[in-house]
Amino acid sequence: MSGIQDRSQWLPISAAERPFYAGVDLGGTNIKAGLVDNRGRTLAFHTEPTHAARGPEDAAARMGRAVKTLCEQLGIGTDDLPRVGLGTPGPQDLRTGVIIKAGNLPGWDRFPIRDRVAFHCGRKVTYSNDANAAAYGEYWVGGAQNCQSLVLLTLGTGVGGGIIVEDLSIDGAHSHGSECGHMLVDPTENARLCPCGQRGHLEAYASATSLKALAREALTRATAGSLFQAVAAGEELTPILISREAAAGDPLAMDLILEAGRWLGIGVVSLMHTIDPEIVLIGGAMTFGGEQAAVGRAFIERIRGEVRSRTFPLLAEKTQIRFASLGGDAGYIGAAGLARAAERHRAS
Ligand SMILES: [Zn+2]
Repeated sequence: MSGIQDRSQWLPISAAERPFYAGVDLGGTNIKAGLVDNRGRTLAFHTEPTHAARGPEDAAARMGRAVKTLCEQLGIGTDDLPRVGLGTPGPQDLRTGVIIKAGNLPGWDRFPIRDRVAFHCGRKVTYSNDANAAAYGEYWVGGAQNCQSLVLLTLGTGVGGGIIVEDLSIDGAHSHGSECGHMLVDPTENARLCPCGQRGHLEAYASATSLKALAREALTRATAGSLFQAVAAGEELTPILISREAAAGDPLAMDLILEAGRWLGIGVVSLMHTIDPEIVLIGGAMTFGGEQAAVGRAFIERIRGEVRSRTFPLLAEKTQIRFASLGGDAGYIGAAGLARAAERHRAS
């Protein structure tokens, strides 16, 4: 079995608090599975490629096997691990446990993923949207720990959204709750096209894909600057390159990043006026170095500035806007956390 990480880096089971939960985060590229204890501390972790082309039943079998193998390695029986959490991309039907048509999992349409993973791991499975699972991870043990409510925006290929309010994931009536990336931020006729097919959604202005598209357009008008020169010399145009050149002082690169921050601020204001969360977290692969980097700090400060200019002073002052803290672990930890929440709600 590939991808089992060194157990010595995780919490030893002797120090862990029962019961345990498993979380599985299914992405278009990788499957991540982890066991956590009752306080959200990781005991064991496994990752392997999704191999989406092999089809959903193959992946469901491997996800189930990963959970079983991790349990066996730690000597954890069914009684000690009552439930598994599974997060997948949408669109999905959370009530029936079906992936409807995920863009990054072609050919998996209408697959009953929840029940097939449950079959293969021999446990009940709590099914969630991957972005909501990540939000729950941050709420439970990450950047929103000790907060009652949060909005998480994950910036990557797209813009993911997750909303948790007082231990509840906002899934919505049709499993489309918390789809913050498809919030309308520009209603004009020529607004940018979102990958979902509609115009003017936040994802069309603040994802890695849109940043690259905006940079490409800006570079056709540019004649100088280090970003222009790097791309002219054959370097691939990526958010990492844009971030590097912004850090080196290229004004175009910095403007592109700050413009993404401006659009995010516009979206965050609407979320604040709808949810009034205690904290808004910005996570995902595209955070420009986060709090540790000058570019990351300028980016989040631009979001905060846009928010301040468009909301009530009291709300701007009280609502925290920060970077998320769990990185790529948020999904499996949060999926496990939602399994724990389901067990606890059932018992109460
Ligand atoms: Zn959209």
